[in-house]
Amino acid sequence: MHVHHLNCGCMCPWGGRLWDGASSGLMGRLICHCLLVETNQGLVLIDTGFGTRDVAAPYERLSPLFVHMNRIQLDWRFTALAEVEARGFSARDIRHIVLTHLDFDHAGGLEDFPEATIHVMQNEVDAARSRDGFIARRRYRPEQWDDVRHWHFHSAGGERWFGFEAVRDLPGLPPEILMIPLPGHTAGHAGVAIETPQGWLLNAGDAYFHRYEMNRHPHCTPGLAAYQRLMEVDREERLYNQDRLRELANRRRGVRIFCSHDPIEYEALVQLSAPAREESAAVPASRRHEAGYAAHVS
Ligand SMILES: [Zn+2]
Repeated sequence: MHVHHLNCGCMCPWGGRLWDGASSGLMGRLICHCLLVETNQGLVLIDTGFGTRDVAAPYERLSPLFVHMNRIQLDWRFTALAEVEARGFSARDIRHIVLTHLDFDHAGGLEDFPEATIHVMQNEVDAARSRDGFIARRRYRPEQWDDVRHWHFHSAGGERWFGFEAVRDLPGLPPEILMIPLPGHTAGHAGVAIETPQGWLLNAGDAYFHRYEMNRHPHCTPGLAAYQRLMEVDREERLYNQDRLRELANRRRGVRIFCSHDPIEYEALVQLSAPAREESAAVPASRRHEAGYAAHVS
């Protein structure tokens, strides 16, 4: 089991550090943190950021409101397909995609991986299909997923993971990958937990947006606090889940939590996985396509 950290999107809203708490210029910097997981059952993507079709035709697929407000940088380099190919794999190697939710900045790359089965919570797909309300019509973009052929919808079913409800045994995926329902940002929003040889990783998606929200004394920038309120569907649930994540982050060793859009969290995790990445890069691309390669690097 080896995990690659990918950046599949870049957004630079006006306001600089009012958004990210770090930029010195007029524009903030947010990323789309996705994962590529090498398992002994093939390659799995966690979220897809923006896709090549978004880059080619943004106004046919994305809401102009978010293109301009978030200042989405539409660039082929910031797509899951480019990130996957940069590591010597091809689109056809991706067998499964697990989604935190179906927002435009997480589901844009789905159609770049036509062989993949898409795993998402049932109540998320219900909300995305009904698109009920001003924000819902702009956040959920059926143009990004109407060509998807293989779906698998899930409901939480009694499993527990560190006190959270969980969906384990996702069909076709190893038991080390679980969905953790974390509603509030959207109705069917879920984190994705992965057990690696180095411990647990929890991709919390958009359950929070700024790294300091996981501190014992949490803090969020004004831009990201306002954005989270704009996008939430249930404030009580969102804040309750943030509290639970914060408690897990501070009390439980061996669980590393990160969100989708914080570039500092992303860069720290890229650094941590660097030795394994270099080892992986030493393997010729031709060998990586051999069946069972993933087993050699577990
Ligand atoms: Zn997002």
